[in-house]
Amino acid sequence: MEYFPIFARLNGRKTVLVGGGNVALRKARLLLAAGARITVVAPALAPGMATLAASGELEHVAARFSPEALDGAFFVVAATDSSAINAEVFAAAERRQLLCNSVDDLAQSSAIVPAIVDRSPVQVAISTGGAAPVLARRLRERIEQLLPSGLGRLAALARRLRSRVTARVHDPEHRRGVWERALDSDAANAVAAGRGSPNDFRAELDAQIAAADASSAGVAWLVGAGPGDPELLTLRALRAMQDADVVLHDRLVSREILARVRRDAEVITVGKQSGCPGTTQAAINEKLVALVASGKRVCRLKGGDPFVFGRGGEEIEALRAAGLAYEIVPGITAGVGCAAYAGIPLTHREHTQAVQLVTAHGKGAWDSIDWQGLAASRSTLVFYMGVARLERIRDQLIAHGRSPDTPFAIVESGTTREQRVVTGELATLPEVATRHTIRSPAIVYVGTVAGLANELAWFAPVQSAEAPPIYATLSATG
Ligand code: SAH
Repeated sequence: MEYFPIFARLNGRKTVLVGGGNVALRKARLLLAAGARITVVAPALAPGMATLAASGELEHVAARFSPEALDGAFFVVAATDSSAINAEVFAAAERRQLLCNSVDDLAQSSAIVPAIVDRSPVQVAISTGGAAPVLARRLRERIEQLLPSGLGRLAALARRLRSRVTARVHDPEHRRGVWERALDSDAANAVAAGRGSPNDFRAELDAQIAAADASSAGVAWLVGAGPGDPELLTLRALRAMQDADVVLHDRLVSREILARVRRDAEVITVGKQSGCPGTTQAAINEKLVALVASGKRVCRLKGGDPFVFGRGGEEIEALRAAGLAYEIVPGITAGVGCAAYAGIPLTHREHTQAVQLVTAHGKGAWDSIDWQGLAASRSTLVFYMGVARLERIRDQLIAHGRSPDTPFAIVESGTTREQRVVTGELATLPEVATRHTIRSPAIVYVGTVAGLANELAWFAPVQSAEAPPIYATLSATG
């Protein structure tokens, strides 16, 4: 750790700000917001600074910097446009063992000012230790979006109600549970979103205090993690991943996504992989129910969307049967996500009016598929879990009247850095897939829109049926 992060209480404390220009003005505003008692040392002041001095919000010493200016100071900021003066200020501060920040000059600083997300009293400070200021700003933008605008209001309200909870709930574990549930409630969300009433939140908190004895606080969040790219996670999915005590995830969920799970959460892999034995669905249901019943907050993380070939329905039935609480967080299903990343406009109006999501996997699935219906319509067909059944898909569709020259596209590991897209005509679907050694997870599109990938792809190159296969676009070059 190169820098030790602290939040300093400057309120009423003397802070010496050296420099009277616009850089100094920006710092002055920030320091005033923290209640600092500012002494500006500068021969002359720019208009904004002069206004602050005239209104008595800061004191102005109209002089060039000299070390005595630091007498009685608690903190020092050098904000001149001369690195020589900044260096003088820093040296003087070092002699007095005072923390000093020179604006945009790491070498002349013993303290750095982070990028801030301010929802006071909640504050998030971000620093890259000067390594990449732009990265810090990008992170700040993302966190800005993540945190609701009224978060500070909620925190201030919680501060006022703290003693109320402490007085009535003695067990620290229970107290934490009361706060967690109250802060997760609709009433809290409404306050954080800037529209709720403090009284509703207080009522919610009281209800949680009353319920504290019934200590089974377990809940299951059935969360869709999307097709692979972590940027496709919803904000709600991210929140469940951050709030969970335990994460039960399928194998399909990528490492990059799991990296965003709360660090001290227990992470358990339960998925099946095509062709390999894995945890059975019954065992998954049982494990999920046992964890939630023991009071855990469980994030059940699934690839894509939990209700699209995700067996989310069965897990919820098990939770319901056990009388346990659950929530469902939708995700971007592979059929939609991979189409976007492969440039396949699923319902391009000049080609089709419908999309059908199909799987040939599962309970008696093969026999119950309405091939007649699938083949007859002009709809875009999206086959999940089809890699091992391409020959039968081709044969059935053509036998039921779909034209052999209908375009197809296969997307392997869609939306990830390993994405491959192969296009061709339905007649040679299985042969092309074999030639390009397509592996699971892959999804198959059949319909005229599949051919548009050849023109519209943007994320990874598209390979046509005849072209020699290219593997892992990235590793081939690197
Ligand atoms: N619930 C998931 C689907 C689970 S079934 C969803 O909504 O997406 C698993 C199948 O999804 C795989 O066999 C494959 O056909 C498809 N799939 C999932 N992720 C994929 C990806 N990144 N690229 C291509 N296909 C994917």
